[in-house]
Amino acid sequence: MKENSEVKIDRQLGRDDLILITGAGGFIAGALARYFHELGYTRIRAVDRKPLPEWYQHVPGVECVSADLSEKDNAIRAAAGAVEVYNLAADMGGMGFIENFRVECLRSVLVNTHLIDAAWRGGARRYFFSSSACAYNTDLQRDPHVRALAESDAYPAMAERGYGWEKLISEMFCQEYWAERGLETHIARFHNIYGPHGTWFGGREKAPAAISRKVLEALDTGNLTIDIWGDGTQTRSFCFIDDCVLGIDQIMHCSRLIATPINLGSSELIAIDDLVSMVEDIANVQLARTYSPDAPKGVAGRNSDNTFIRSILDWEPHTPLRTGMEKTYAWICQQYADRKAGKRVVKD
Ligand code: NAD
Repeated sequence: MKENSEVKIDRQLGRDDLILITGAGGFIAGALARYFHELGYTRIRAVDRKPLPEWYQHVPGVECVSADLSEKDNAIRAAAGAVEVYNLAADMGGMGFIENFRVECLRSVLVNTHLIDAAWRGGARRYFFSSSACAYNTDLQRDPHVRALAESDAYPAMAERGYGWEKLISEMFCQEYWAERGLETHIARFHNIYGPHGTWFGGREKAPAAISRKVLEALDTGNLTIDIWGDGTQTRSFCFIDDCVLGIDQIMHCSRLIATPINLGSSELIAIDDLVSMVEDIANVQLARTYSPDAPKGVAGRNSDNTFIRSILDWEPHTPLRTGMEKTYAWICQQYADRKAGKRVVKD
């Protein structure tokens, strides 16, 4: 088995043990499947409801299954024989999606409900759930200069409507399957993950990809303007995909993190206006800005408090935003050119 060069992880997982990764036609789970494949694990089952040609990545040697996991029978079939289950399947997107499609977001609760039960009945050893910073109390996020969110800030609960409540209730399923039924569960609250092989147009894309695409469109059309959702002062932190998959691996295999939600995010806070300036700098262009204050913009400010993850893992996501954005912009630039040339690209 290969090891990650950055950290040592004791997985207690055989090379040929079956690993189930759901949502694997999407961004993060696709990267996770590639990560485990590259480490040398031989039996990875990747499941997503999207038809196979629409998956963002196809990792050689990985069993790819197209199935809707909100159906109980599909969840049972997917989990059969799995030693570890990583549930990253959810109907989600950037602010434009989660503010306008709350029912779809809430319905993802069916995936976790069926899958965790199937994992438990099937005798899986560990179960991972991808939660979100949207599970945090929105009252604490009304100011762009908010203090970073610590794990205890989810309660008293006032999560983001729809999407955030689905995450909170699914977290609770994970905690009770451990408390009552002894299934070892692990829960990470992701904060804005970005990087190559994610959605970059179509309505589900998030700010780093959307801004990169808008800058490319301006350059391509010669219309040197950019429209920014909100007033540009809203702040966020963004976590690079390589840090995210390494964080998932560590969290899943840490005995001190059973049924214990933990932040997985960067603590490098940036205002959306400054993120636009960063992408302009990468692209070597300056655009005239317009603002859409009524567009979906989410909470005023949100950052990840990494005190807990540092204390447990002696590690935290650390890729500088500029480094990650250079890689992301370069990838979207290529996708943009491919789309123009009529080639197949990643969408939603
Ligand atoms: P994504 O949209 O790229 O991937 C999610 C995948 O789940 C999609 O390919 C979708 O087809 C699949 N899916 C949805 N419903 C399904 C179903 N019923 N059965 C089978 N597959 C289904 O999103 P992502 O960014 O890769 O997110 C992965 C996970 O991480 C999700 O749970 C998401 O809520 C969580 N998360 C992501 C972020 C982020 O910044 N990307 C932040 C917080 C939490």
